[in-house]
Amino acid sequence: MWMMLQVLPIMWRAKRPSRIADMPAQVNTFWLRRGYEGLTFFGRILTPTQQLADQMNSGPSPLKTHEMIHLRQALACGDSWMRFYLLYIWYWLRALPMNRRLRHGAYLLNPFELEAYRHMYDPTYVARHPDGCQEWRRYARLSPRQRYENYFYSKKDLQGNHL
Ligand SMILES: [Zn+2]
Repeated sequence: MWMMLQVLPIMWRAKRPSRIADMPAQVNTFWLRRGYEGLTFFGRILTPTQQLADQMNSGPSPLKTHEMIHLRQALACGDSWMRFYLLYIWYWLRALPMNRRLRHGAYLLNPFELEAYRHMYDPTYVARHPDGCQEWRRYARLSPRQRYENYFYSKKDLQGNHL
């Protein structure tokens, strides 16, 4: 029960993306299903285990970079978490039929995820985009079907699910 409600104060106290330099990770087993590793939530990273939270709080890693790219994407969405999440859900819904062609297709073909997966192994990517990560806009101009045909993932990308 506490885990379920724990996200409310995070939302209420959320700072604008532009005012967040780093995102602390914390465990939330209610909202983070097994198999997922991290979720950017209004300036925090939620993880399914303490071990993953500790790992993300201890220094740079591809997973941390993935989540930080989402922060900079929210900055690019008019510096608004709400606009970022509404767009995220909209893209997810639009790509939902792709789940029939590709496991987790609606998630993996989300423009925000395409950018985050593509650059999470580049430790300099976030620092190079202090004014916001914008590559997702290019993917958003394509239909989900075109994204499926043009941008696929390497095996390494799909080892875990990074929300
Ligand atoms: Zn993600």
